[in-house]
Amino acid sequence: MNYKRFLFAILILLIIISGIYFIGRENPNNSVSSPEPSNNSEVTKSEGSEFLMDTLVRVRIHDENSEQVLDEVLNKLSYLEDIFSKTIEDSDINKINLNAGVKPVKVNEETYKLLEETNKFAKITDGVFDPTIGPLVSLWGIGTEEEQLPSEKKIKETIERVEYKKIEFQENNKIFLAEKDMSIDLGAIAKGYAADYVISYLNEKDVDSAFINMGGNVSVHRDKVDGSLWNIGIQDPVRNRGNIIAAVEGEDISVVTSGNYERFFIEDGVRYHHIINPETGYPARKGIISSTVISNNSSYADALSTSFYILGVEKSFEIAQEMEDVNIVLLTKDDKAYVSEELKGQITFTVDDLEIIYR
Ligand code: ADP
Ligand code: MG
Repeated sequence: MNYKRFLFAILILLIIISGIYFIGRENPNNSVSSPEPSNNSEVTKSEGSEFLMDTLVRVRIHDENSEQVLDEVLNKLSYLEDIFSKTIEDSDINKINLNAGVKPVKVNEETYKLLEETNKFAKITDGVFDPTIGPLVSLWGIGTEEEQLPSEKKIKETIERVEYKKIEFQENNKIFLAEKDMSIDLGAIAKGYAADYVISYLNEKDVDSAFINMGGNVSVHRDKVDGSLWNIGIQDPVRNRGNIIAAVEGEDISVVTSGNYERFFIEDGVRYHHIINPETGYPARKGIISSTVISNNSSYADALSTSFYILGVEKSFEIAQEMEDVNIVLLTKDDKAYVSEELKGQITFTVDDLEIIYR
């Protein structure tokens, strides 16, 4: 390379580097804003994404103050991650776990409330949803470098350490895990709770419209800016990410899916995934490959989609039909979709190799 060419190459490199630097500075959360083509000329759209709660979170805000709202939303989500995470060292959950069987831990109000909420789902599902699933999750290690098929004996021992009734709720937001080596894992509900938390802030601020996608847990605030309804896809559990099997229309709703297609390992032809039945200590095997819950409340949708995955078709419909505003779509191994009757007219299936059964 001659001298001039070399200088030219350096110059181009500098331009690229400074460009990246400035883009990075202007968009600390990887966000962009643009004017909204709507009736209301004041409304702008801001979009941002961030890796939080073990997943890619994408947020879209339509509002006069869309940029500030987006910033605040991402801040709130990152605050919740900081207190709910079981891997962040000084999170509430990690502190509770480290002090299991030792002493109660004072936690933030949100952690206390969320734990109270988990209790409700544990009761509704007869303990199939269990926030103290931590020891079993660690034993299987699914999605980590330590994933393994544990011995029968080890599984039996570990089940003993899973019991939601041993979470003690004390005065002044204190939580005590009654026995050593117990641990809390909020993986099945934290994203739903976080979505509700954000939505309540959007309501408080009277924000025009918003779309929140936390790795497939979708919540929408109000309708779209042009006044039409949102269309939310339900992912195809068999084909690759991005394909959908159905779309659900609505406003102010949350659509949450649990499946076995994201985190799993295969040994001797058996697929072991990350949703564990606390009664058996093994990943759930009730013939369901994906379980979707549609509700106004995202905590319900999240906690119940995980639970229904374990419970199977019959028991899930029994529970869902007893509850208001909990509708479900359960896909089974034999290519059937069991769908709540209430969803008729609101859901459109986009594949034709499924037998659709409304009930
Ligand atoms: P994802 O987080 O992949 O979207 P889920 O909402 O279904 O899926 O949550 C699965 C996570 O919930 C697991 O990774 C684990 O942390 C936790 N979990 C697994 N089994 C149970 C259970 N029986 N009760 C409560 N939480 C569970
Ligand atoms: Mg869940």
